[in-house]
Amino acid sequence: MTFTTRFAPSPTGYLHKGHAFSALTAHAAARAAGGRFILRIEDIDATRARPQFDAAILEDLAWLGLDWEEPVRRQSRHMADYEAALDCLREEGLIYRCFRTRREVLDEIGRAPHGPGEGTSGTVFRGAPLASADEARRLEAGEAFAWRLSLDAAAGWLGENGWEALTFHEQGRGPQGQHGILQARPEQAGDVVLARKDVGVAYHLAVVVDDALQGVDHVIRGEDLHEAAHIQRLLQALLGLPTPAYRHHGLLMSDAGQRLAKRDKAETLRDLRARGVSPEALRAELGFDP
Ligand code: GLU
Repeated sequence: MTFTTRFAPSPTGYLHKGHAFSALTAHAAARAAGGRFILRIEDIDATRARPQFDAAILEDLAWLGLDWEEPVRRQSRHMADYEAALDCLREEGLIYRCFRTRREVLDEIGRAPHGPGEGTSGTVFRGAPLASADEARRLEAGEAFAWRLSLDAAAGWLGENGWEALTFHEQGRGPQGQHGILQARPEQAGDVVLARKDVGVAYHLAVVVDDALQGVDHVIRGEDLHEAAHIQRLLQALLGLPTPAYRHHGLLMSDAGQRLAKRDKAETLRDLRARGVSPEALRAELGFDP
């Protein structure tokens, strides 16, 4: 199999140095292995994705000197793929409708894979389907619902030892230095949302489906997504999909020691460009061949 990796940004803002580092890391790994580098635009969140950010991602990465396979996959154009996966899980009784409001449950995992929200950094939510009469009444009333993965059902479906036998290979590092063959611990994430009330799919499901469809065998991304690998490993098992190797890398920090993030208005690649920084200089600063 050809080594295949990807950079999968969400077009919800301009790219900053942290993105550049991640994209360069994945691109260099693909080059070194004589493999494939894929760019995937994760734009399922129609409430936050913007076409100008999508266009800017392509422009900024090209400026940085990267090239990628065409066509670029845009998740918003492949909703049928995610619905098919959701159908499989539904047929096996592995997901349930959740009518809770945001206030009742932080559904941040579906909204922003980097938390804080449910999971180790927040509340772990474990629920169960409503009694059928109650559910029928809410459906009748037209109440919106999300689909959540049932960890109880998943454990039962996998058999006696549940997900104990599920492992994945961390070839990079998690935030606590996790490395090597790790046992999947999806219980740290809880009953994650797989289909959001508003957009019909959620991050974990779309990523797992796409990585398999695109033949991604090495997931290279920031260590803030190490935790996500645990629940994604479980989804791979439930959907009968192959498990890639994971290479989570450390995050670039600002001078003040903060993680670079869109929401904190980290200096963008466009800002750097406007300041006259050359792509060669930036590549060298980030530790790559100019
Ligand atoms: N789309 C996610 C982000 O913007 C990354 C998903 C992934 O690499 O698995 O951070």
